Amino acid sequence: MKRLLARWVFPVDQPPIEHGVVEIVDGVISDVGPLHGQPDSETTDLGNAAIIPGLVNAHAHLEFSSLDSPIKPALPFTDWIGRLLAYRRERTGSLDQFIRAGVHEAAASGTSLVGDIVTGDWSPDFVPDDGLSVVAFRELIGLLPDQMAPQLKLAKQHIADCRATKKTKHGVLLPAISPHAPYSVSPELFHGLVDLARTEEVPLCIHLAETLAELELLKSGTGEFFEMLTRFDLWREGTIPGNSRPMDYLKPLSTLPHALIAHGNYLADDEIDFLASHPNIATVFCPRTHAFFGHSNHPWERLIDAGATVCIGTDGRSSNPDYSLWAELQFLARQSAAARLPQILEAGTRQGATALSLVNQTGMITAGKRADLTMISLNESTATDPWKALFGTESKPVTTIVMGSRIRSPRS
Ligand SMILES: [Zn+2]
Repeated sequence: MKRLLARWVFPVDQPPIEHGVVEIVDGVISDVGPLHGQPDSETTDLGNAAIIPGLVNAHAHLEFSSLDSPIKPALPFTDWIGRLLAYRRERTGSLDQFIRAGVHEAAASGTSLVGDIVTGDWSPDFVPDDGLSVVAFRELIGLLPDQMAPQLKLAKQHIADCRATKKTKHGVLLPAISPHAPYSVSPELFHGLVDLARTEEVPLCIHLAETLAELELLKSGTGEFFEMLTRFDLWREGTIPGNSRPMDYLKPLSTLPHALIAHGNYLADDEIDFLASHPNIATVFCPRTHAFFGHSNHPWERLIDAGATVCIGTDGRSSNPDYSLWAELQFLARQSAAARLPQILEAGTRQGATALSLVNQTGMITAGKRADLTMISLNESTATDPWKALFGTESKPVTTIVMGSRIRSPRS
């Protein structure tokens, strides 16, 4: 047994605890509460620090970990995609190295669970066995009818491969699937993959309502996506039925226990209402990627207020400077009212764990959950408001603990 004492503990399912103690037995939280009396010899005093649940990055593309900075210019979006594909073709190094570097970077910045979109020759063996938990979303792409069977086969193989991999240390590795986006996956393939996710009980993520150009393609089959797909000879008359919209994708997703839509930048009012009544579909907001592309205001506050599930992702280094979920939360906190700070922490922990199907195990500091914890050093020692202290400008993750074991102590 060990106990960790800190100036503040943020369990997330209850208010912050001043001079809080987290007790851990065999990698599992056995108790949390205020310190009574003096700390004993089994208690480690972390001093002016906060203990929060391990951060959950619900949407990342770790394969782009070798990029020093985002691919520019960001717009037009289809040109950015073209540059991204060119980068992927021309980069040197192995996918194995890129994934390992991305996982280490995420862990070093306080993340204990990541939902990663995986492509190409990705293998479960690429996930380093040092504790960080990964939900691996196999990306599936196919607009043409003859792509459907091979993509379904690939998805099934991925699920089987992940399940056959035994991780010996503390993290978990779960399979998941990701029909990429409405402009790269036919409605038939999308429905086939939704059926597969339901049968296999795996999470499913799709990029949805990300750009106005996507909405235009869905509605009228025109615009920059039409031009790009025509250039690649991937567009056929009637590929997507006229007057389609994100709602046509949300309805099938509502039949799944765990669905995620990446971005949701341009959801209509009735789609927000639909998400509020279907908390099994999480919206992954990627704040700095959203800013990189210059999108209009994201509806994350409206979604939360309406009762929808909102979690946070970094997306890839292709549109973001790093894989630090903490940096996303700080970025959001800086531009939000103080009353939003508890919701921001919850989006980066419990809601992410919910979206990735692991909330019964992680995402809160509660007895019975895995001891997945992040230590945040607090430099604003005079702040008496715990939320101001937590989101102070100097606050930063110093240690990530997964299943009670320290997995990474970042260089300071
Ligand atoms: Zn993405």
